[in-house]
Amino acid sequence: MSHDLYREVILAHAQSPYNHGTLPDATCHSHQDNPTCGDEIDLYAEVRDGRIVEVRFESQGCAISTASASMMTEAIKGRTVEDAARLLASFRAFITAGDLLDPTLEELEALEGVRRLPARVKCAMLAWRALEEVIACGRGRA
Ligand code: ZN
Repeated sequence: MSHDLYREVILAHAQSPYNHGTLPDATCHSHQDNPTCGDEIDLYAEVRDGRIVEVRFESQGCAISTASASMMTEAIKGRTVEDAARLLASFRAFITAGDLLDPTLEELEALEGVRRLPARVKCAMLAWRALEEVIACGRGRA
């Protein structure tokens, strides 16, 4: 994809994020913030028998943090906690070390340009830090 298309993907997710809102039946929750940019996120997940059956988030912040949360929640919804852990490791290696992304996370390649900008890496990782806590919570309930 070209950089213009990447930008369009990020803006489309930021303007109309998937899985946005609260989740009354949540069994796991994480709040994270990124003071350097002013981003905040609350991630809610309903984990049943080791599977993330539903996930939602509320956020305030920049386009990159919201787009990353939107794409992340789409990728993990319906998957097992262990699958989510594998995808988290893949995204972290992609955004911090330039590794290839797991094919499941193809759309998140739109954040490729962020890798050169350490402050923006924190924006892109915010939702995934929340996921890390949700995974720990989900494992405790497995
Ligand atoms: Zn940000």
